[in-house]
Amino acid sequence: MTHFVQEAEELDATDVLAPFRDRFHLPLHNGSPAIYFTGNSLGLMPKATERMVMEELEDWQHLGVEGHMHSRRPWFSYHRQLRSHLAHIAGALETEVVAMNSLTANLHAMMVSFYRPTQTRFKILMVGQEFPSDRYAVCSMTQWHGFDPAQAVIELTPDHGTHTLSAARIAQAIEQHADTLALVMFSGVHFYTGQYFDIPTITKQAHAVGASVGFDLAHAFGNVNLQLHEWGPDFAVWCSYKYLNSGPGGVGGVFVHDRHANRPDLPRLAGWWGNEESTRFQMKPDFEPSYGADGWQLSNAPVLSMAAQLASLQIFSEARMERIGEKRDALTGFAERVVNTAIGDRTDVRIITPSNPKDRGAQLSIQFDHGGRDVFDALIAAGVVVDWRTPNVIRMAPVPLYNTFCDVARFGIILKDILG
Ligand SMILES: *Cc1c(COP(=O)(O)O)cnc(C)c1O
Repeated sequence: MTHFVQEAEELDATDVLAPFRDRFHLPLHNGSPAIYFTGNSLGLMPKATERMVMEELEDWQHLGVEGHMHSRRPWFSYHRQLRSHLAHIAGALETEVVAMNSLTANLHAMMVSFYRPTQTRFKILMVGQEFPSDRYAVCSMTQWHGFDPAQAVIELTPDHGTHTLSAARIAQAIEQHADTLALVMFSGVHFYTGQYFDIPTITKQAHAVGASVGFDLAHAFGNVNLQLHEWGPDFAVWCSYKYLNSGPGGVGGVFVHDRHANRPDLPRLAGWWGNEESTRFQMKPDFEPSYGADGWQLSNAPVLSMAAQLASLQIFSEARMERIGEKRDALTGFAERVVNTAIGDRTDVRIITPSNPKDRGAQLSIQFDHGGRDVFDALIAAGVVVDWRTPNVIRMAPVPLYNTFCDVARFGIILKDILG
């Protein structure tokens, strides 16, 4: 494994994003930085976060209600401070994105508008073994419309003996349910396997059979390179505390495609913050939605939490997603070689994440036939922060903004030692 250390040192020396590591607080293990590979679960805290949040507290302290209009970043329009950054990460128009609520709440809000079942067209197609919150949201939404989830929710599982969903299997399922399909609701990157689904192709196929299509980008946003406007799904939702480093429970976001930007006819959950800004404070009885994604906002901005998000988004805009993407593929590819070398000729351990860089983001899922939990415990004890997902997977996510090639090489040495 030692040749990997030398290679890692060379790669770190030429890494254009290397200086960004110093913009984050790294958790310590026995006094030195831990090898932190759980940015896909809770991203690290940017050093700028404290100042950004403190500034809002100071403005509140000194200005009281006047801060809505006269603080340095006026609270009245706070969501707009985040918009250009979110549009960059989403590959969207600024009017197509807004930070609001939390992920699961946003998924419900989007389904109110884009899951419009009829007696014949009422099914939702989703990925099997999905993160439970998505399944609860989808099933409860079909029930709310009076359907039985057993009939209305189609969950796609991988072909026997494989771990990921093939494009052919997804296409075949969309064809099979064509006339009864109301919505295709997929994750962008699957939380368990790390598979990155082909958003533009799935979007095209769903639209071709007359279904709406939306994506849960919890593990995709700030991780993979998105072009949502061009790809054309009806909606997408995300959370901000994973790759987006916005802190525990940080504010989520939505993308609503421009074709729905001016659709007052579309049923939606409405709130005063989604009302057209120029008439919002006329407090009129009838709801008049704002243009674009803004028209789905319910409440005024949770400023303290959004300040934390802004601190991280500014880092993304400086680093740029194109460069983040290049390092992600290099770092994940290096991690794949290192892990496979550590596994050696053991046949009871394997990476189940797709090997093709276009089918994955920054995550590798390592599956164990037995004993995985002990390996996980040993990694944690050695200062490697990964996570365990039942039944039998260790997830690791080398994050381009703050992980190094040396982190990966050191991880490889520790893993080989434990596996051996
Ligand atoms: C992290 C994650 C969630 C979490 O939902 P919250 O509403 O933010 O608590 C939901 N779905 C998926 C796929 C996730 O990865």
